Amino acid sequence: MPELPEVEVARRNLEKWLRGAKLTHVELSPRIYYGGSAPLYARRLTGRRISAVERRGKWLRLVTDGEPTLYSHLGMTGKWVLRKHDDPPQRFERARLDSARRSVRYLDPRLFGRIYGISGNATPPPAFTALGPDALTDGIDPAVLHARLSRIKRSVKEALLDQTILAGVGNIQAAEGLWRARIHPERAASSLSPAEVRALARGLEGSIRDTLAREDSPEITYVEEAGADNPFDVYGKEGQPCPRCKTTLRRIVQGGRSTVYCPRCQPRVPARRAR
Ligand SMILES: [Zn+2]
Repeated sequence: MPELPEVEVARRNLEKWLRGAKLTHVELSPRIYYGGSAPLYARRLTGRRISAVERRGKWLRLVTDGEPTLYSHLGMTGKWVLRKHDDPPQRFERARLDSARRSVRYLDPRLFGRIYGISGNATPPPAFTALGPDALTDGIDPAVLHARLSRIKRSVKEALLDQTILAGVGNIQAAEGLWRARIHPERAASSLSPAEVRALARGLEGSIRDTLAREDSPEITYVEEAGADNPFDVYGKEGQPCPRCKTTLRRIVQGGRSTVYCPRCQPRVPARRAR
């Protein structure tokens, strides 16, 4: 499932492929289009030049030289890929943006992705406007994050998935960040000390940067597809030894999502606070 690093790779690719280019042909499947009439919006986009490709959290935004702005959320399995003009429609192809030089397609087998077309001053999708600071472009301010978490009774793991607190962090980056910061995923968000939140901010930023460095390729491979090549420290590694202390990693389910953690490195009660 795409998280901030994968969406950032998609942004860089789209920028490389389409920035400055005039769209000569646009197709949008009504199955992923949420902005009203897909054919109408496709016609409105045609002839427009892409002036910027931006990202906020897990959202992409294609800005044009005219009124239309295209918002894209990759959902669980969405991908923007580069093809040739005469390549036939791809399996699971849901959108197509052609310029004179390139043919960019959007593939999405499971259809959880969404595309919104917005014109003029119309409000962006609500999920976009509610986003908190972006963990990469805005950076994580530990004091701000501590203030937000201190009001939350839920577990810190669940709080990190809330896109209004921090945009872009998903199940993978949350598990990796907590492991790097040595914080138990079931700790109440409000129980974290300022020093622990600083460690968490460093852990999340480090994990996002490391993932980004590995994934800079024209076509993203999601971990679910990578199989044995899972490059993460703990995500998807239940039953394997902790890379730090060799204790067997455990998996718990929180809010319907699994979290893998090390019971030794990430104690439920931090050592220095134990009574
Ligand atoms: Zn460990």
